[in-house]
Amino acid sequence: MRVTLLTHTPEPDKIVAAAARLCYSGADIATIQTRLSGEKGAAMIAKLLSLGHESPLEHVSFTFGIEGVSRALSHQLVRHRIASYSQQSQRYVRMEDFEYVTPPAIADSPEAKALFLAAVEALRRAYASLLAHVPAEDARYVLPNACATKLVATLNARSLYNFFALRCCRRAQWEIRALAWDMLRLVKTAAPHVFGQAGADCLSARGCGKGEMSCGTPYSKSELDGGQHEPSRRS
Ligand SMILES: Cc1cc2nc3c(=O)[nH]c(=O)nc-3n(C[C@H](O)[C@H](O)[C@H](O)COP(=O)(O)OP(=O)(O)OC[C@H]3O[C@@H](n4cnc5c(N)ncnc54)[C@H](O)[C@@H]3O)c2cc1C
Repeated sequence: MRVTLLTHTPEPDKIVAAAARLCYSGADIATIQTRLSGEKGAAMIAKLLSLGHESPLEHVSFTFGIEGVSRALSHQLVRHRIASYSQQSQRYVRMEDFEYVTPPAIADSPEAKALFLAAVEALRRAYASLLAHVPAEDARYVLPNACATKLVATLNARSLYNFFALRCCRRAQWEIRALAWDMLRLVKTAAPHVFGQAGADCLSARGCGKGEMSCGTPYSKSELDGGQHEPSRRS
């Protein structure tokens, strides 16, 4: 998996702080911006997040390059509708030499790995044979979920909050959870205040709201402080 932050709205912390302050101020926008240096801007964003006043987060967007992930992952990713996506096409790009993602649980089991590799190679041969008879858009029907894909995805900070709450959670599937944590790390560097409270719900002030679906093992502060932001990719 390769995830990069391709670009984002300039000065995201400053823009969100100014948009938030505007709601509660009689001053003009230029004056608001000059007053929101460093600490004041950070305090404004913290207040905004504590109030659940989320719409100012929509003014800043983040564009990611995502490569080497499975089609199983991309199907889950594009369910997040408040976003824009461009994905490599299996209609227009021939996939004879497709890369694939091997789940760690399969990689760790010699028997499962042998089955998996045999199936992938059989599908690769079937795909190549079909290409002799039908267009790529039809041959692709035999390609596996493991098939690697690449996307460009753009989400605003409000949508990213929702994405991180759902997908950094231990209940999320291992591959999209790994992606979410990589994306979270990237945006925290670009906008540390905007994403100061982003992540799985169990890390937020409101806590896990999953009830009986809760995993029962919230991320601990020591886990995060210890640099173990990378969750187990297996569970
Ligand atoms: C652990 C887990 C398991 C899952 N299992 C399944 C599964 O078994 N089957 C399955 O089909 N999906 C499953 N999903 C996907 C899930 O149902 C959502 O489709 C996905 O997480 C996108 O979330 P979202 O709708 O909040 O995001 P977005 O589409 O980005 O929407 C963001 C928010 O906007 C609002 N919104 C967007 N569109 C509408 C709308 N049409 N009407 C009203 N409000 C709207 C909602 O508040 C929503 O939370 C699973 C997700 C997770 C995290």
